[in-house]
Amino acid sequence: MKVLKFGGTSVGSVKNMANVKNIINDGEQKIVVLSAMSGTTNNLVEIANCIKIENSDQAIASINALHEKYTDVIDELLHDKPLNSKTKTYISDRFNFLVECTYKEYSQVLDNEILAQGELMSTFMFNSYLRQENISATLLSALDFMSIDANNEPAFRTIENKLAKVLDSAENADIYITQGFICIDGEGNISNLQRGGSDYTATIIGAAIRAEEVQIWTDIDGMHNNDPRFVEGTKPISDLSFDEAAELAYFGAKILHPQTVLPVRGYGIPVRLKNTMEPSAKGTSITSNHSETGIKAIAAKDGITAIKIKSGRMLQAHGFLKKVFEIFETYETSIDMITTSEVAVSLTIDNDKNLENIVSELKEFASIDVDTNQSIICLVGHSIVNHEGTHKLFKILKDVKVRMISYGGSKNNISLLVDTDNKIKTLQKLNSYLFELVTL
Ligand code: ADP
Ligand code: ASP
Ligand code: MG
Repeated sequence: MKVLKFGGTSVGSVKNMANVKNIINDGEQKIVVLSAMSGTTNNLVEIANCIKIENSDQAIASINALHEKYTDVIDELLHDKPLNSKTKTYISDRFNFLVECTYKEYSQVLDNEILAQGELMSTFMFNSYLRQENISATLLSALDFMSIDANNEPAFRTIENKLAKVLDSAENADIYITQGFICIDGEGNISNLQRGGSDYTATIIGAAIRAEEVQIWTDIDGMHNNDPRFVEGTKPISDLSFDEAAELAYFGAKILHPQTVLPVRGYGIPVRLKNTMEPSAKGTSITSNHSETGIKAIAAKDGITAIKIKSGRMLQAHGFLKKVFEIFETYETSIDMITTSEVAVSLTIDNDKNLENIVSELKEFASIDVDTNQSIICLVGHSIVNHEGTHKLFKILKDVKVRMISYGGSKNNISLLVDTDNKIKTLQKLNSYLFELVTL
């Protein structure tokens, strides 16, 4: 069985939903994972924020505007009267729930419940649409099998067992539809796999059922060799290894949730990235195979904080780094990049929730400099550090202010830390040199 995931744009209009229907209606049995309609999760985040700051008038205005939009979509999508009215009733229930939330006290649990409504609505609507088109489909609730543990990590064994039972007892169908993104946490509350998490849902399901492959259908023809939002003339990459794709996703290539590749890598289940609006385009295949060496793609991750820990006397002493790392461990903050010299260690974090506490503990034995608003630019390619052309990188970067470089941490990755203000310029420079002028 295959798992096919369709993102927000793919289910964001009636025209695109028709494309999705055509793609999945090939007689093969499959699980289809859907995101919320594009824009909806952002709207729900705004609604939750209004409730948090106790601006219920604004929350209700946003809820009503969104409800109207959904009513229009249902009228365009469903001409079958009973299905139209059944779907409107379901959607109205979701919006009534949102209105009730405006009377409740804000909590993280409430926030997660609000954010879950987008995927619940898109899957219900799409299931009705398939029924109208006489396509055999069954809607599965992700909340019946998608569980995370106390560390907010997917509980793989539980998911595998629960999903097997859900599939066993579900009405047999060619197409099983379920929600991306949403899940149940260790305490039985609704939670989620973080923004963009529907990709992760798809590969978690893919691993749980040992799928033949996982397809991620989106609004672009595969993983591009640079960020198409900031750089012109980027090109799709036809093949990536799991390692390369994992590095790109982790370091900011928005097309994939950072953890997407992890569940399927161990089973060797291929992941294909495809364009819903252009299904015949080749897209990107992510497999265990490695192709040529050299730089293949560049991605950037914002919101990085760099911390320089300076202590000339202590650094040479053994146990110094242990002491530093223990502080980060205490505050459950993971480190992305790290470089050392005789007198100082610089490292980066992408979560500054506990920055103040971390800095105050570090200050007990070192002097500390903190730089916020940094971006990691990550260059990825098989055995990139061994490639004969890679030395040209330093020439290309001659007038870019680079704060840190990580070279050799893995064979497949070179990371640079720059001020976020310089990110776009750096991406563009690297693009024009590496992909156009310099043939490495
Ligand atoms: P979906 O809603 O289908 O999950 P996303 O918006 O999450 O879609 O991801 C697709 C978007 O990712 C593209 O439209 C593109 O702007 C952005 N993107 C960023 N970096 C890359 C990259 N290296 N290759 C392809 N797309 C990228
Ligand atoms: N709807 C969620 C989001 O916008 C999950 C996803 O689209 O993958 O983040
Ligand atoms: Mg996405």
